[in-house]
This record gives sequence, structure tokens and C-alpha cells, in this order.
Amino acid sequence: MTIRYVSTRGQAPELDFEDVLLAGLASDGGLYVPTYLPKFDAEKLRAMQTMSYPDLAYEIVSPFIGDCINEADLRAILKDTYSSFRHPAVAPLVQLEHNQWVLELFQGPTLAFKDFALQLLGRLLDYVLARRGEKVVIMGATSGDTGSAAIEGCKRCDNIDIFILHPHERVSDVQRRQMTTVIAPNIHNIAIKGNFDDCQAMVKTSFVAEPFLPDGRRLVAVNSINWARIMAQIVYYFYSGLALGRIDRPTSFSVPTGNFGDIFAGYLAKQMGLPIEKLVIATNRNDVLHRVLTEGVYAKLSLEASLSPSMDITVSSNFERLLFDLADRDGDVLRGWMETFAEGDLTLSNEALEKAKALFDSDRSSDEETCAEIAAVWRKQGYLVDPHTAIGTKAARVCQQDSDAAMVTLATAHPAKFPSAIDAAGIDAQAQLPAHLADLFEREEAFDVLPNDLAEVHQFMVANCRA
Ligand SMILES: *Cc1c(COP(=O)(O)O)cnc(C)c1O
Repeated sequence: MTIRYVSTRGQAPELDFEDVLLAGLASDGGLYVPTYLPKFDAEKLRAMQTMSYPDLAYEIVSPFIGDCINEADLRAILKDTYSSFRHPAVAPLVQLEHNQWVLELFQGPTLAFKDFALQLLGRLLDYVLARRGEKVVIMGATSGDTGSAAIEGCKRCDNIDIFILHPHERVSDVQRRQMTTVIAPNIHNIAIKGNFDDCQAMVKTSFVAEPFLPDGRRLVAVNSINWARIMAQIVYYFYSGLALGRIDRPTSFSVPTGNFGDIFAGYLAKQMGLPIEKLVIATNRNDVLHRVLTEGVYAKLSLEASLSPSMDITVSSNFERLLFDLADRDGDVLRGWMETFAEGDLTLSNEALEKAKALFDSDRSSDEETCAEIAAVWRKQGYLVDPHTAIGTKAARVCQQDSDAAMVTLATAHPAKFPSAIDAAGIDAQAQLPAHLADLFEREEAFDVLPNDLAEVHQFMVANCRA
């Protein structure tokens, strides 16, 4: 039986993997989730323990992909995907203290965990498109890490033209240069004279507007609601839990969280059989999710800029996928909840809140606490963490208490990506960009500056799609 995908809001058609890969939001406004999950028992986990990252990835993702890609091709795609990572282990573990570990997810080309999903997504899309004889256009908005990871993931894709919007003069130099120095005929960086919300609004409107692309080309989304991204992220939970030998005893994970994509993958790993005790939602001052767990109320907040910009969010779009399970996978109930949320606040039922609390723990850090944690980890362990990871290591300590489960913090970005936060921590440490990015500041940049005007952006895209 192959896994099919249903919308959380229950009114869109069921799809197979290939269509979910190409779809963004479901037509009813919901997100796609698998109809069931593959399960791995202890014996299978033991067999998986010695596998290389790409081989393990094959075990985890192949049930979700089903017969959409044959075994030899999928194995080749996975091998190629993770060969772009610098460390031979792909996702190495570093021990900080007794029972405290960091999983370095920043060994990919753009130094953030998003490479795990987007390096794979680009290759999967290109494979499927070549077979269908189709070309698509990817459009995305970024305030930081997603844009560069998407660009790196698609730069060699023959069947994809990619247009990434960023707010002009409002992203950091490192983050901008990681996007604008990737020069390829299918890559287009657009600096919009506006803020991030303006960029995001243009992208959202483009997906629901009248088709505007040449010869009926499809517009594809690569934001974290894309199911294939979540799927790819399940793998490193298994990889690290198994590397720590945790088959009969559980591991806990502390996850620096924004849109809830990364930690939702951990939740799935647990359903699939990996022994996990707690999943810790680590947030910055944009703490919608910390509030859900502590107060039982899911409410949109206003955006506050922080030292951990990749976690600056007002809503966590993937939280809807968890809510769907908390609603016992009833699309009608979930739709009602999301309508209530759209009007203001959603108060969880006691039953839903208790279920969530049994799975998740949470902690919030201010910028001051983030800096103090960067400094503390540096002084104590001589290990430099980026501000997102610091929020995770602090939450790990707060939430571990006296549990003897191994606690793994996901290190979501390399410290060299966020030099200003390291400065703010006031420590005598500097992170060097890895060799492949050492000359980032000498490289040629290419981007176009456009007004905050959707018609002009669409015109630009039409004029710049490859034939
Ligand atoms: C995207 C990102 C996050 C947040 O991940 P979500 O899946 O949105 O919760 C955390 N840290 C870094 C460095 C990121 O780039």
C-alpha cells in the first residue's frame, strides 16, 4: 500500500507523493499530511543503527515516496544530496556535558539545517519534472536562511527557475551574499523596496492570483509547509537517536523553533517508533508556541525583531499539522479551530492541551538570555553556538531537570552566520566561515531592485523565465 496525503482541512482531494511535492497549500487552505506513517520496531532500528546517513535516509523516506521513484534512482538522489555536506557524518553529534549533546545540522552548503530538506527538494523536483517533461517556477520570500538554502538547492536544476524576494537593505550582509553570489541563469534574486511582510504578501498573492506564467507553467512553493521538507527532516532524529544507541531508552530533543516544521518532524519520528521522551519547543521572544503550551491559547502576536531572526514569526504555520492530530485527524473540527484562530484566539480544549503537554515541553529566551547562554557555553565548553542554537541549549537545560534521557539540542545554524549576536555576547571568540565561503565578501553579487509592486514583479518573472 502506498502512502497518500490528505489536507488538514478535509476538503481538498487526496494526493500521491508526486502531486504533494508540486503542491503548496491544499486547495482548501490546509496542509498536506500522510494518511499513515511507516513504523520501525526495535529489531529494525537495530539494523538501521550502522547505516550511513544516505542509507538511513532511504529507509525513512522511501515509504513516503512509494512507487513515485524507483529504488536505484532514489538511492542515487539521496547519496548525491548528502555528498554536498562538509562533514563525512553529515549530521555529527558533539557532547557538551553528561547527557547533553548538540547535533550539528549546519554542515550543508548554506550553514543552516534548511539544507537537509532543500538540497533534497531541489533534486526530487528536478527528477520528477524531467520525467513529466515540465518546467516550473519557484517563488519565495525570505528574511534569511530559507532563500539561500532554496537557491543552493535549485542551482543545478534544469527544469526550475527560481525567484527569491528579499527586503532591500534589510537582510544581513552574510545572508544576502549567500543568495546574491550564486550566479546561474535560473537564479533570480529580487530586492524589494519594502519589508519582509511586503515580500511575503506578494508571494502569497501570486499563488492564488490568476496564472501569469508563460505556457501554463506551475508556481511551486518551497516554504516549510511543503511536505517533502518535513519528510527529509525526520531522518536526523533517527540518525542521532540511533548513534547514541537509544533503542531501548529514550532521547529528548530541544529544537529552536519558528514555523514548527523542524520539531514537527521530530514528533513524526516518535510516532514512527524512535524512542523519544520529550520534544522541547525552544522559542525566542516571539513565543506563540510557548504560550500555547503554558496557557493553552494559540494567538497571533505582533512581530518582534530578535537576535535569532530565523525564529521571528507571528504564527507557526506547521502547528496546524499537530492541531490536526490533536483534533483526532478530523478535518471538520480542525477547520473550525482554524476559523476561530483567524478571528483572534484559539483556546485548546483540556484534552488537546493535555495531549500536547505529554509530547512537548517549552521554554522561551530573551535576547539577554540568548547572549548569556552563548557566553556560558563558550566559557564552559569552549564551543561556540549561534543564537538560535543557544536558545535550544538553554531550553535543554531548563527542561531536562532530573530525567536521565539523553538530551540532544539541534544546532540549526553555524555561528559564523550571525556574527552580531556573537559580538553582543561579549566574548572573545570569532567564528570563521568555512572554506567554501571564506571569500564570500569578495564575490560578485547579482540582484535586481524592484518596487513594492506585484505587477512589476510578475513582469520581471515572465521576462526572465528560461525558454
Ligand atoms: C528556519 C530556522 C529555524 C526555525 O525552524 P522551523 O522549522 O521554522 O521551526 C531555527 N533556526 C534556524 C537557524 C533556522 O534557519
